[in-house]
Amino acid sequence: MTKNIDWQNLGFNYIKTDYRYIAYWKDGKWSEGELTKDNVLHISEGSTALHYGQQSFEGLKAYRCKDGSINLFRPDQNALRMQASARRLLMPEVPVEMFIDACKQVVKANEQWLAPYGTGATLYLRPFLIGVGDNIGVHPAPEYIFSIFCCPVGAYFKGGMSPTNFIVSEYDRAAPHGTGAAKVGGNYAASLYPGLIAKTRHFGDCIYLDPATHTKIEEVGSANFFGITKDNKFITPLSPSILPSITKYSLLYLAKERLGMEIIEGDVYIDQLEQFKEAGACGTAAVITPIGGIQYGDNFHVFYSETEVGEVTQKLYNELVGIQFGDIDAPSGWIVKVK
Ligand SMILES: *Cc1c(COP(=O)(O)O)cnc(C)c1O
Repeated sequence: MTKNIDWQNLGFNYIKTDYRYIAYWKDGKWSEGELTKDNVLHISEGSTALHYGQQSFEGLKAYRCKDGSINLFRPDQNALRMQASARRLLMPEVPVEMFIDACKQVVKANEQWLAPYGTGATLYLRPFLIGVGDNIGVHPAPEYIFSIFCCPVGAYFKGGMSPTNFIVSEYDRAAPHGTGAAKVGGNYAASLYPGLIAKTRHFGDCIYLDPATHTKIEEVGSANFFGITKDNKFITPLSPSILPSITKYSLLYLAKERLGMEIIEGDVYIDQLEQFKEAGACGTAAVITPIGGIQYGDNFHVFYSETEVGEVTQKLYNELVGIQFGDIDAPSGWIVKVK
């Protein structure tokens, strides 16, 4: 039985679902993970996750298909990225198989919370890895917790995509050789204040420039940036301090293989925006958010339109979302069936 939820009006909010997965790392190995109804963690006050930001998280979604089956979109990529984050922060890696199995267990146990096909709503999975155990000095934790919970979330766009405006921040979310490429809470703590400034000025979020020279676009808050040039090339920034978005790499592939476009990962200078006819922000939560305009200092640059979605952006969106919900053939290995 599916829960009686107003799927059309779901936002992106915490909703306590029935089960979450939890596994413990101690003495060099992971425990057998298990499902629990308890959504409260009981951890040492000395946990490194609380003091020194030794933690990482992921985000992916489960999708209900037309035939009632359930898709996960590229969960192996989330597993591999969490392993990369773990290496950067000296945490134990969660094996890919364990990660995917845990995702499946959580979705199956909470199937009632997954929206029917056609509503656009999905089940958002939040895996996280945290350093715990008694500790006070600055060094890696003696113990770790790997857990995954889930929340039903709404379609990002009610009644179709609508462009959003962004503002270039004077702040940085990451340092040139810092942790920008790792999906870790510290980057987000650094982004809260610049994000608040952007929202106070009625922008969707801020755009960060490269922390070394402040001349090139890095990314958009919690999503990667892409632009479509006037001669139809798909361009997205390349930098060691950008979080490597799985959605972005999927769009790079689809732009080339399905739309026949030339794709480029390279520098995107903030003073050369006129080369683009369309631009967007992409990520699991944002899916594709078309960018209406970008405020940079006193200058406001509008791309395709502040109200309408460009043709290429719409095609990319249809292809991506079609694959995720099982309506369009997926490239090999992209879809993992939960049932
Ligand atoms: C998670 C995240 C993204 C989007 O990555 P996806 O894998 O596409 O969900 C983009 N930027 C930042 C900073 C992120 O944390």
